[in-house]
Amino acid sequence: MSDTGTVQSLLRVQELDLELDRLRGEEASIPDALRQARGEQERLNNALEDTEIALEGVEKELRALEQDLAGTREQMARAREEQHKNAFDARAQSQYGSRIQMLSERAEEMEEDLAPLRERQRELTEQASRLRAEHRALRPRLEALEREDEARVQALRGRGEGARQERAELVGRLDPRTVKEYDLIRRAKKGLGLVEMRGGRCTGCNVMLPMGVQQKAAQGKLPPVKCPSCGRFLVKVG
Ligand SMILES: [Zn+2]
Repeated sequence: MSDTGTVQSLLRVQELDLELDRLRGEEASIPDALRQARGEQERLNNALEDTEIALEGVEKELRALEQDLAGTREQMARAREEQHKNAFDARAQSQYGSRIQMLSERAEEMEEDLAPLRERQRELTEQASRLRAEHRALRPRLEALEREDEARVQALRGRGEGARQERAELVGRLDPRTVKEYDLIRRAKKGLGLVEMRGGRCTGCNVMLPMGVQQKAAQGKLPPVKCPSCGRFLVKVG
């Protein structure tokens, strides 16, 4: 095969790598509508969680206070019974009378405290059901957007498949050590592992190359000569 292991095939490998990078970048960039819908869902989930925690706290307080109130009322009932039993004892009458008075004042205070708690419970319950309704309403749109995005990602991967196959074929004909070194340089430089020499300069870092390096680059042999300044492989195009 005439093109076996040329610097041109390594250059083509790089073109394909850049195309695959671009496709991966595109894959990672989530469409605005989906990002917003996901953000909205998260906001609703968080708000619902906060509301449910607050509601739980209020209901716990309510239960404790209702229990206290029931206890106080029981004490009042017992005091009334005692008062009734001791109907002819004036001292007991007055003692039970003031006890009943005291308990009744306490019960009234508790009822006053209960009212705002019940109001808060009602508000939080309404808020939670409103948030649940919003969440339900959002779901079909979010699901449609997720399906759309899945199709988008699959299409991008399909487009990458051709590039991956061509790359594998090219790489199969190249010296693995050269390919590995190219991969390492490309990763270290976050982009290009192989750059063009133009007008005697490295286009990767713009340094003027020594004559010996220029000559080697012009020969176009593998493994390619490296730029002494930036360490990238050099290729003379055309
Ligand atoms: Zn360079």
